[in-house]
Amino acid sequence: MTVNWTSRRAQRLSALPAYVFARLDELKARAREQGLDLIDLGMGNPDGFAPRPVIEAAVSAFENAQHHGYPPFEGTASFRKSIAEWYQRCYGVDLDPNSEALPLLGSKEGLTHLALAYVNPGDTVLVPSPSYPAHFRGPLIAGALIHPILLKAQQNWIIDLSTIPEDVARKAKILYFNYPSNPTTATAPREFFEEVVRWARHYEVMLVHDLCYAELAFDGYQPTSLLEIPGAKDISVEFHTLSKTYNMAGWRVGFVVGNSDIIQGLRTLKTNLDYGIFSVIQKAAETALQLPDEYIKDVQNRYRGRRDFFIDGLTRLGWDMTPSKATMYLWVPCAVGMNSTDFALTVLQKTGVVVTPGNAFGEGGEGYVRISLIADIDRLGEALNRLKTAGITYNGGREKIEV
Ligand SMILES: *Cc1c(COP(=O)(O)O)cnc(C)c1O
Repeated sequence: MTVNWTSRRAQRLSALPAYVFARLDELKARAREQGLDLIDLGMGNPDGFAPRPVIEAAVSAFENAQHHGYPPFEGTASFRKSIAEWYQRCYGVDLDPNSEALPLLGSKEGLTHLALAYVNPGDTVLVPSPSYPAHFRGPLIAGALIHPILLKAQQNWIIDLSTIPEDVARKAKILYFNYPSNPTTATAPREFFEEVVRWARHYEVMLVHDLCYAELAFDGYQPTSLLEIPGAKDISVEFHTLSKTYNMAGWRVGFVVGNSDIIQGLRTLKTNLDYGIFSVIQKAAETALQLPDEYIKDVQNRYRGRRDFFIDGLTRLGWDMTPSKATMYLWVPCAVGMNSTDFALTVLQKTGVVVTPGNAFGEGGEGYVRISLIADIDRLGEALNRLKTAGITYNGGREKIEV
């Protein structure tokens, strides 16, 4: 007996747009089979170890039998306390660790479940295009109608709230956004945060800000927390992750802070879904948030060095790039005459370098690719050499190969 289970999947799965990475994955697998040495700058997956004190905190936490049982649903009190202290230290924002901070199994989990906790089928959710996929895929799973806000290079990829029609603003339930931005690397001035808070209070829209690149900022730039803005806490939550700054992507730990009612809704849903984060990992995360500033400076220097090195190489290949003030990415216009998919596939086929086509982040990302600076300078140099050898330049991409 064969039952067609694919056709019986819930509509919430078929609502998800096709996975642009699928073709890329297929070509990556084929290239590997052919023995090609891939340089994968496609994922936002930091290279290397978590900090030594974090590993040591985890190892010693393993020796405590208490940590081997179910963790508390709402996260350990000491991790929540360290989140509140970190916020006070970094942004001067006061948080009640009991009601205004919730540890998460990585921020993607929380960003997605928040939509399940607040979105009914047919509700309108505002999401910039391009954006991090969880910002629209979560709401889509919940049955949202997504109203994309098209971002433009000429506006430095900053949301233009005046392009949101009045009737859409009135019925919108949530606005997801993210500065410093993945994928565009854009940073938003404090005035933007003030404007979006005014706008959201007026229309009673929930603001969901993803501040996962809080510390990956350079050249003296300090990213703004939405919660620094007076009045923001009435309408907002802000998400953070330990994945990027602390090389802990595989550990699965992040957190959300902000309005206690909004957080309570997410907590109620999660109480029915999961048992929270392994206490050992919460101990480690707590240690990460308490690391001395020198650690953060080292990380910043590492990514800034890679950024400058790669931009220098691209400049010699004809690109004209302004260095971004934050994130671990470069957002690079495709070679003249090519779209995102063609360019990413051409680069992969000709050089074995994997970059992410910008349209994977929504239509607004068309015409760009995202390059993750997740390899050391030697490997990045090798990637640049291969581009040069393959004749891939900003103006020289015309004769694309068929893939
Ligand atoms: C990497 C990233 C995350 C992190 O997700 P985790 O689930 O915490 O690993 C969240 N948002 C954005 C925009 C990211 O780039």
